[in-house]
This record gives sequence, C-alpha cells and structure tokens, in this order.
Amino acid sequence: MLMKSLYCKIRGHELIKINKESILIKEYKCKRCQQEFTVDGYGQIVKLTPYWEQNNLIFKNSKSSNF
Ligand SMILES: [Zn+2]
Repeated sequence: MLMKSLYCKIRGHELIKINKESILIKEYKCKRCQQEFTVDGYGQIVKLTPYWEQNNLIFKNSKSSNF
C-alpha cells in the first residue's frame, strides 16, 4: 500500500471513473492506491476527503484515511 502510494506520487495516479447514480457527481478512483478523487468547483481533481464526500453524498459519512 505504501509502495503503491509512493509510485503514484512519482508517476501520478491512474484514475478510473466511478459510475454513480447521479451524472452530476464525478468521482474517480486510482487503480493502484485505491484512493478516491472528485472534481471541485474549479474543475480540478482533488482527493475525495470527507468534506467532498459530504458535499456529494450527504447521507454518506465515512471517514477517509488521512494520507
Ligand atoms: Zn494512486
């Protein structure tokens, strides 16, 4: 896991789109480190933090790993 994250830091994440019920929500997942990402209001890919998770899905309140 740690090695994979390191690889992502050097080479960048390999993002795949996660299909959600809502087409308005864009969420991505890295194939290597399994970290999840979303797109913020500026169109930039950001790590899917609990903040964004609550923004996207209000009822979902899982705590993501503090990397
Ligand atoms: Zn990654």
